[in-house]
Amino acid sequence: MMETTFTIAVLPGDGIGPEVIREAVKVLRAVESHLPDVRFNLTEYPCGATCFLATGEALPSETFEACCQADAILLGAMGLPSVRLPDGREITPQIDLREKLDLYCGVRPVYLYHSSDTPLKGYGAGEIDFVIVRENTEGLFSSRTAHNSSDSDTVWDVLRITRTGASRIFRAAFELAKKRRHHLTLVDKANVLPSMAFFRRVFTEVAREYPDVATDFCYVDAAALYLLKSPHRFDVIVTENMFGDILSDLAAGLVGGMGMAPSADIGDRAAIIQPAHGSAPDIAGRGIANPVAAILSVAMMLEWLKHPSTLRGANWIREAVRRTLQEPGLRTPDLGGSLRTNEMGDLIVREIEQTCSASTT
Ligand code: ATP
Repeated sequence: MMETTFTIAVLPGDGIGPEVIREAVKVLRAVESHLPDVRFNLTEYPCGATCFLATGEALPSETFEACCQADAILLGAMGLPSVRLPDGREITPQIDLREKLDLYCGVRPVYLYHSSDTPLKGYGAGEIDFVIVRENTEGLFSSRTAHNSSDSDTVWDVLRITRTGASRIFRAAFELAKKRRHHLTLVDKANVLPSMAFFRRVFTEVAREYPDVATDFCYVDAAALYLLKSPHRFDVIVTENMFGDILSDLAAGLVGGMGMAPSADIGDRAAIIQPAHGSAPDIAGRGIANPVAAILSVAMMLEWLKHPSTLRGANWIREAVRRTLQEPGLRTPDLGGSLRTNEMGDLIVREIEQTCSASTT
């Protein structure tokens, strides 16, 4: 049997990053032990605000080099409120990495595993199930490294949309919709901003290539309302960088919060897989962070690797999470439980072991 080895650069980062990555790696190793033909070569690299404090660099060149060589990058969380640039912004090497590696497609699945985890009435497991596709390389974030001021009293940020950038994110979103329920919603602000009217025109052009996918449009303010009132209406949502940033936190709140929100930032050749949450300094170091987002992110990484065995592994992880969360008492404190981070990880590993033993007996 031919064995395939995947090289994974692991960047635990700051705050709860290392705590949830430890559990994610534990789950990955459990999956690996049941896959005879794939191996994961994991190496940790420094990156983030803690690294910046220690070395003066948030993204050391050796870390970046390793990321360029890796088959996938598994990232915890970066940034600390106490570590800032002179203008007040936080250190965000994860955004630098995203831009340098041209990871234009931010994929944020939103899935309800149990009715007890949503603040909405009447939604059961699987009844909230959509994906936000966030454009990652332009939009309002494209201003973040520019010096946009004419004097000390005026600062502006530009919302930049290019035909190339918009077309490629729309195609990625249509391709995803084709694998799901064949419905794609464009979220924009085309009624006010010329950049967004252009975004919508490009969307309409690209949509002609996908006659089998139904489309609709939603202004971002209305999208915030509909996400709360009727999230089941969404299948795939595609949107601008900043809108995607905001709406994906709102969407995470529908299924239990940031601890339940996995994500992948994907380009044509590379991918960073990370929980959608930040470093959560308010709970860091206490062993109570919810590792489920990081663990579900590993499932996304296995899908990105596209090997038949890694695809099986991705299904095992999702099934193990689903089975673990069927018991509403088994939760970390963010979801009203009392489990510690490592205990949650252990339960998911146990379910993987049971699934795999059952499938081999
Ligand atoms: P960023 O801007 O870097 O994305 P943020 O400022 O949006 O970060 P987070 O660090 O994601 O903030 O935290 C938002 C809230 O969610 C905090 O109260 C934090 O404790 C909580 N939170 C985030 N991740 C988790 C987790 N894995 N488990 C439990 N609570 C979490």
